Amino acid sequence: MPVAIDRTTPIPLVPAPSILEESARRFADRPALDFLGRKTSYGELARLVDRAARGFQQLGVKKGTRVGLCLPNCPYYVISYFAVLKAGGIVVNFNPLYVERELKHQIEDSGTRIMVTLDIRQIYPKVAAMLEAANCLERIVVCSMSGSLTAVKSVMFNVFKRSEVVAIPDDLHHVRFERLLASQGEVRPVEIVPEQDVAVLQYTGGTTGVPKGAMLTHANITANTAQLCRWVPEISLGQERMLLVLPLFHVFAMTVGMNFGLAVGAELFLLPRFELEQVLKTITRKRPTLFPGVPTIYTALNGAAEQGAWDLSSIKVCISGGAPLPVEVRARFEQLTGCHLVEGYGLTESAPVATCNPLGGAVKAGSVGIPMPGTSIEVRSPLDPAIRMEQGEKGEICIRGPQVMAGYWNRPEDTAAVMFDGALRTGDIGYIDEDGYIFLVDRIKDVIISGGYNIYPRVIEEALYQHPDVAEVVVIGVADPYRGQAPKAFVRLKDGHAATPEQLKDFLSGYLSRIEMPKQIELRAELPKTMVGKLSKKELQAEEAAQAAPVPAHTA
Ligand code: AMP
Repeated sequence: MPVAIDRTTPIPLVPAPSILEESARRFADRPALDFLGRKTSYGELARLVDRAARGFQQLGVKKGTRVGLCLPNCPYYVISYFAVLKAGGIVVNFNPLYVERELKHQIEDSGTRIMVTLDIRQIYPKVAAMLEAANCLERIVVCSMSGSLTAVKSVMFNVFKRSEVVAIPDDLHHVRFERLLASQGEVRPVEIVPEQDVAVLQYTGGTTGVPKGAMLTHANITANTAQLCRWVPEISLGQERMLLVLPLFHVFAMTVGMNFGLAVGAELFLLPRFELEQVLKTITRKRPTLFPGVPTIYTALNGAAEQGAWDLSSIKVCISGGAPLPVEVRARFEQLTGCHLVEGYGLTESAPVATCNPLGGAVKAGSVGIPMPGTSIEVRSPLDPAIRMEQGEKGEICIRGPQVMAGYWNRPEDTAAVMFDGALRTGDIGYIDEDGYIFLVDRIKDVIISGGYNIYPRVIEEALYQHPDVAEVVVIGVADPYRGQAPKAFVRLKDGHAATPEQLKDFLSGYLSRIEMPKQIELRAELPKTMVGKLSKKELQAEEAAQAAPVPAHTA
């Protein structure tokens, strides 16, 4: 293990607002945010947070009040996040692309009373509809896209394309963000018990059932931030620049982007959505040194950078997470940029980072690295978690550490199902090698059972990624009359490449056993992705299930 990582000093468990307060003290004049050219210094950011926190308290926010943030990446998100926490409230993260049904479920499940959102046609109307539809929602705090915190330039309309600013009613249910900032007086101090008090409700589990709110405490958030700071000891405090295009309402960008970036005094370039050319332009012009991402982002940049004259050489460190990072994608990106791209692993329920490959030490191909400081990974039997597996044996990965959530909001049974003796059962199968490196095999629920054998889709995906024509792959289990289930691969080829399914199958025969060989390989121009850009199986599984379902008989 690399010596540079401090694994002995206890991780401080402190209230989450201290992340920004600490940096505002040390780097007051340094830029904290750059949104489309509008810069906000650390000092100014901390003052805006204080004023907004007072405003929230005057709106009735006290300890435990749930305040929703339904915002794309922009300064309003960062200010509101820390202001709600400072006022004693709980941040509930909402995806601005949610449809009304999803918004309603999450507002009601969490008991969100106030929602902060943006005055654009794509977002505001559906949030406004919730004042009627969801009983608990009392007020909307409206941030203006043409307000002083954003770049009042035509560039904003380029970013939001067809979206336009909409008129906001002047009534008791609406409060302008500017009015929040104009509140007089001091922030009333709120006593926070970091290990108990919930800071963020982060919804998860949408792929398998009703989304549940993971309760991330103040300590979970500050612990994971501190753990990441230890992971990169060679970072220059107050000097780094980070490109943040992953959405802040997702746990990965919240911690690995915003909280870690602010903790090291970096300047955060916030981009509200992933557009390849804009990302490449921003990297070339603004020269970020840190660039957290998910594998699909690095894949897209690899493809584009090979074709255009973009300068990506400023990037020094990237942490990839959320999904497997194909070995060749990592190698190519490092070659193009000269950076260190390391893969980490975690879940919403672990705030999220549990393991990562070391920056200064050996990176093992295909491994998600070693545990964060203060964290231990246990491999337990998926059938009986009381049984510990031996080193090298496969089992369910369980995480024990200060970043593991307090449980699911109002769902004690779901909580009990994922916690074992204080450790989080992840639902991921993996093993630990002789050097303590963790390897993931697959998710328990994605394992394909074919003729009594366990097939791990990831093994097939990794094999297909070895083919030079393949850009992206998803493998799922489909119904098979003889074997119960069989693997099927969906492949997107690289632009200008033309391998046929038969050629891909021939290629695979050198890598896979007969039972692992996909029953079918289907080429697609696009593969479905989640909001954060993870390749998604859900839509493909639904399509296959619909095709396999018997056609209902017509009734006369
Ligand atoms: P979420 O809570 O939505 O962020 O999803 C967490 C899940 O993403 C984990 O349980 C893993 O199955 C998967 N995941 C996260 N990081 C990785 C990684 N580096 N490699 C493979 N799967 C990952």
